[in-house]
Amino acid sequence: MDLELRQILDVQLVQSNEVKSSYWMEMEGLTRCLKRVEEEGIVISDLVTDRHPQIKAYMKKERSDINHWFDMWHMAKGVFKKLEAIGKKKKYKQVGDWSRSVSNHLYWCAASSEGDGELVSEKWLSILNHITNVHEGHGKRFPKCLHGDLEDRDWIKKGSLAFQEMEKVVNGRLLVQDIKKLSPAEQTSALEAYHNVVCHFAPKALHFFYGAMKARIYIAALHFNENSSRDQAVNKNGQLIYSVSYPKGRNGAGIPKEVKVKQTYNYAMVLMQEVIKVRLEFGSYSESRKSREAAMVNCPAPIASSYQHVPKSELVERHICRFNKKCKFTYNELVIMNIQTK
Ligand SMILES: [Zn+2]
Repeated sequence: MDLELRQILDVQLVQSNEVKSSYWMEMEGLTRCLKRVEEEGIVISDLVTDRHPQIKAYMKKERSDINHWFDMWHMAKGVFKKLEAIGKKKKYKQVGDWSRSVSNHLYWCAASSEGDGELVSEKWLSILNHITNVHEGHGKRFPKCLHGDLEDRDWIKKGSLAFQEMEKVVNGRLLVQDIKKLSPAEQTSALEAYHNVVCHFAPKALHFFYGAMKARIYIAALHFNENSSRDQAVNKNGQLIYSVSYPKGRNGAGIPKEVKVKQTYNYAMVLMQEVIKVRLEFGSYSESRKSREAAMVNCPAPIASSYQHVPKSELVERHICRFNKKCKFTYNELVIMNIQTK
């Protein structure tokens, strides 16, 4: 996705049997996307991904020409989940109470530092002072908090058990190292919106074969690209419209959300025109279909085809046999129990 234009540039579908293990799927998807986008003559200067270890290593080794950043939403969510889990224990309750503020602090660190890694990490670590009601003396680049006077809150005592747990997460070696590469660009909302569109066109609860799945994610991209930059809707008096939601994760805190103007589906018209064009070109629907099937020649074999196939009759026989054994066993046990109780 081009984050500035909020447009999907390329979509790649990777089936797990195309790579050596499902662990490598993200990596395969990324390299294919980079190749495809670069073939179109687009120069990639910056790339934002999650902190997948293979991708981190690949970008460092093979693509040092691209600035690699980490997505702040993934990182903030990871920090929040860790702190929330620790806060479930009674003695660390304060850690849980501070979890939302600390993860929000991570967004702020990235968004206010223009990609200056050292500044981001100094700002980030200042939270360990802030939670103990110390707001100065953080470091050279970020000596003191920027907020004004604060009302009293449940500050954590420095050195307490809760503080030590908080420190383990905030000051984690890998986290502090990666935080320097937090993306300064706002990307969360666009990516989340795109994932929602994909889930709409290709619901996870349903199974689609490769060709159908590919078509569905392409349509999701077309739909997203047409609708990703809609204006906010206004009412009769010209006032901007908002809705309020109460997400479960926010423990009852309401969040206002901009209501956008209605979605459009112009891409559907273009696709239908394309269908007519192909039909006219090939003379009949069956010939058109054959041409599409020929285009799908490179699609990978279904995952189930890699398993050893046993005739259905044999499977059913084995099933019945196993079922009978199970019944016998239960019956024997019942008999033994009766003997014992007598
Ligand atoms: Zn402070």
